[in-house]
Formats: sequence, C-alpha cells, structure tokens
Amino acid sequence: MESSARRTGRPARNAARVSGMGETIFAEMSALAVRTGSVNLGQGFPDTDGPASLLDAAGAALRGGANQYAPGVGVPALRQAIARHQQRHYGIDLDPDREVVVTTGCTEAIAGALLGLVDPGDEVVVLEPYYDSYTAMIDFAGGVRRPVTLRAPDFRLDPAELEAAVGPRTKLILLNTPHNPTGRVLDADELAAVARMAQQHDLLVVTDEVYEHLTFDDHRHVPIATLPGMAGRTLTLSSAGKSWSVTGWKVGWATGPADLVAAVMAAKQWLTFTSGAPLQPAVAHALDHEDGFPRRLAAELRERRDELVAGLEAAGLTTYPPEGTYFATTDVSALGWSSGSDFCRALPERAGVVAIPSEVFYDDPDAPGAGRHLVRWAFCKRPEVIAEAVARLGRADLHA
Ligand code: GLN
Repeated sequence: MESSARRTGRPARNAARVSGMGETIFAEMSALAVRTGSVNLGQGFPDTDGPASLLDAAGAALRGGANQYAPGVGVPALRQAIARHQQRHYGIDLDPDREVVVTTGCTEAIAGALLGLVDPGDEVVVLEPYYDSYTAMIDFAGGVRRPVTLRAPDFRLDPAELEAAVGPRTKLILLNTPHNPTGRVLDADELAAVARMAQQHDLLVVTDEVYEHLTFDDHRHVPIATLPGMAGRTLTLSSAGKSWSVTGWKVGWATGPADLVAAVMAAKQWLTFTSGAPLQPAVAHALDHEDGFPRRLAAELRERRDELVAGLEAAGLTTYPPEGTYFATTDVSALGWSSGSDFCRALPERAGVVAIPSEVFYDDPDAPGAGRHLVRWAFCKRPEVIAEAVARLGRADLHA
C-alpha cells in the first residue's frame, strides 16, 4: 500500500495501526503470478474443488432459502457436527451450544481469539516463522509478540527457548500445528513441553489446527487440548477450507471452554456478526459424511510433495520435506542467494514460477537460524501443474 502522504502530499489519512502494512505476501505473489503467467506455487489454495456432495449441499441450501443471517454463533447443525468431529477424531467432548462458535474462516477465529483474549501489553508467545495474520492481530489487540524460532533443518520446538520466551506478562501461547510455513507436525515431546509451560505459568493456549487432516507418512496430528490438564485452558481453531478444498468458503470455528468461546463470540459479533448462512449446513454435511475426502487428499498431497521435493532438489535447492500441510521449504543460499525475497522476485522471469519468501514470517530474518534464505513452495496443485513447475525450474538458471 502506497502511503497516502507520498501520493497526495497531504498528511497520511490512514490510522497508525495500518500504516506501513502493505498487502499480504500471498496477495502480492498471486498477483505477480497472474501478471507474469507463472505457475503459482505461492498462496496455498488447491486447484481442484472439494467433494461433490459438499457443493451440492451448498447449492441446495442456497436454493432452499438459507440466505438470511445465521445465528452469530453458527447454525446448530454445524455446531453439532463440529462437536461430533472433535469427539470422533480426538475424543474431545464439547457442548455444541456453549463450546463451539462458527467463524468466517480460521482467520476470523484468530482475530476473535486475539481481540477477545489479549489486553494491551499482554504478551503472546508465537512460533516463528509465523503465519502473517497472527502478528497483525496481536498488534491490533495491543499485545506484544514473543517469537520462539523453529530452525532448519528439523524445525523442532526447543523447550528451553519456549521457557525463555514466557514471562510475567505472558497471557497465551499461540500454537500452530501442522505448521505453516515449515510443514512440521509437532510431536508428543514438543506438545508436552508446551502443556507443561502453560500449566506452570497458568497460560492459555490458542491453537490453529487448520491442516489437522493433512499429515503424511507416520505423522499424526494430536490436538494439544487432548493432553492431560489442557482442555480447560485451550482454544482450538480450525476450518473447512483445507480439509475439504474450499478455501474460498471461509468457514471456520473455535472450540473449547465456554468462557474462551464466548470471548471469541464477543469480538466476532462486531467483526462479521455472522458467517455465510448457506455454507454452514454444507460444511456440517462434509464433517459428518466426507471423512474420506481429507484422507484421500492427504495421500495425494504426499505424492505431490514427493514430486515437488524431487524437482526442487534436482534444481539445486536444499529442501526440508514437510510432515504435513500444503508447503515445502527450501534453502536458496546454495544457489548464491542471500535473500529469499530477491530469489522470489526474480523467479517469475527466470523460471515462470511463483513461491513465497519465508523471511516475511520472522521478526528478525537475519537472527541465527532464522529464515532470510528460506522459500516456501505450495504443492496443493494438480499433478500436471507440479510437473510443469518442476520442468520450468529444471530448465531455468536459478543461480544468483
Ligand atoms: N493460508 C494460505 C497460505 O498460507 C493463504 C493465506 C492468505 O492468502 N491469506 O498460503
């Protein structure tokens, strides 16, 4: 965003809270892909639709009159289906009337959680690299972020670093597993370390689990709410977009203790008030009847991951194969690049491919073990699209 001061010569008219905020890296890179005719392995969205029964259910709801405001907390059928999903997959018991709220994508659940739970000056411990909306919403809430860096090659959460990040002002730990952008699925030891820290310091945990069903090989997602002593202090966030390939529907949810869910709802009522009415019964249908879709999707994504990783390696990029999500991370320094952003800005012209520079997801990308030289590639694309990207990368000179 060009500052209005520079454009008009008048004092800036935008508020301090958005000044200096450009458009998101995802919007910027998707626009670059369109402009240059590049294969877009940047923004994470699939290029195929979700299950036909889900689309049919939405169409039926649209034509069947579900077109006025839904209840703010979400339609009962969807809240009940979310509760059943958490019970069936994880053994988590939820009261659908008090412990579930439907949001406009997980993004609104993140916004509602941070606006509803964080006071100015409260500290929020967040895994770094972090998804960009976390930092924006921590800022909007007046909170202070305390990043804990996951470092290549294994991107493990170091309990000592977590402990060092927690202080007297810490209000909550904002977790994300499976983790965007690194593709890590936190294991039992790492989750136990977070749970220990939360209980020792009486912290809340807000956990973004939108890639919950998209894990590979032997890696299994375990919600931290299922660890002993954690259900009462954990707000779990997820959505339909990734599991059922409908990222544009923006249907998400927050589940957990009634007071934490009420805090999200209190903020949500002033953000969107209520979320897309005809999409909610359709998502309820998917939660109840389309368990197989995310399972098949994960198996396909694993193949796409392997194809992309092989192609990236062949192109000379050191690659860290992910355990889950849509994304693989590479190190571009072996090709002589010191900045992933420089690499990504050159890539459309060099190769006709777009990727995301991970450096934007760090407070200090030049800190030891941080990500100045890391680049994220999405593989949630049709096989022929991955093959075309790999062919283009193979033909290109990618050296700095
Ligand atoms: N979650 C997706 C990604 O990480 C898209 C995010 C967005 O466009 N805001 O690529």
